[in-house]
Amino acid sequence: MRVRNKPWAPKLINAHPELITETPADLRGKWQTRFAKPQPIQIEVGSGKGQFIIEMAKQHPEINYIAIEIQTSVIAVILRKLVEEPLPNLQLCHADGQAVTAFFEPNEIDRLYLNFSDPWPKSRHEKRRLTYKSFLAAYQEVLKPAGQIEFKTDNRGLFEFSLTSMNNFGLHFEQVWLDLHAVVTPEENVETEYEQKFSIHGPIYKIIATFPT
Ligand code: SAM
Repeated sequence: MRVRNKPWAPKLINAHPELITETPADLRGKWQTRFAKPQPIQIEVGSGKGQFIIEMAKQHPEINYIAIEIQTSVIAVILRKLVEEPLPNLQLCHADGQAVTAFFEPNEIDRLYLNFSDPWPKSRHEKRRLTYKSFLAAYQEVLKPAGQIEFKTDNRGLFEFSLTSMNNFGLHFEQVWLDLHAVVTPEENVETEYEQKFSIHGPIYKIIATFPT
C-alpha cells in the first residue's frame, strides 16, 4: 500500500508512548503490562489503517489486540483514531512483522491475522510474502501450541501460494473459503479497508489454519 507521507506522523507517535511502541523487543514477554487487564493476545501483521483490528477490539473486549504495521504514515492513522476513541485492549506496534520472534516470547500469542497482505507477484520476491515459510516459522515460534492463522485476500495468486506454503509447512486447514462474501453475513465477518474496497471486483478468499504441535 502506497500512502502519502504524513509530516505529522512522527510527532504524534512520539506523543503517545502509552498507545504505540517503536521498540517492541523491549516488551518481549511483558505485553500484558501494556493492557488494562491480562487476556489472550491476538496480533495482526500489516494492519493498514486499522479498520479490522479496531472493530475486533470493540467486538471482543475479552481479547487484547496488537496491530503491527511497518509504515509510519499508515500506523499513525490507526493511532489518530485510537487517540480520539481509546480502547483498553488495543496496542500499536510500529515495526516489521518479519521480526516477530524478537518482539514476543514463545507462546505469548493466541492467534495471528494476515489481511490483504502485499502480494509481491514477482517470483523473485516470494520471500517477502507474509506467508513465505520463514514467516510461518516465526509465527509458529510466538504462537501457543496449535495456534491459528486467519488469512484473507482478494489476490488469487497470493491465495494459491499461501495454500501451498501452509500445506508444505504442515499446517492443518480448518476452513477454506473461495468466495467468503457469498456465504457469510456482514455480522460474521469484520471487514478490512481493502476488503471493503476490492470485494466488488471479485471473490475474497479466506483460510483458517492451525500449526502442527
Ligand atoms: N490489512 C489492511 C487491509 O486489509 O485493509 C492493509 C492491507 S495493505 C495491502 C498491506 C499492509 O501491510 C500495508 O499497510 C503494509 O505497510 C503492511 N506491511 C507489509 N509488510 C509488512 C511487514 N513486514 N510488517 C508489517 N507490516 C507490513
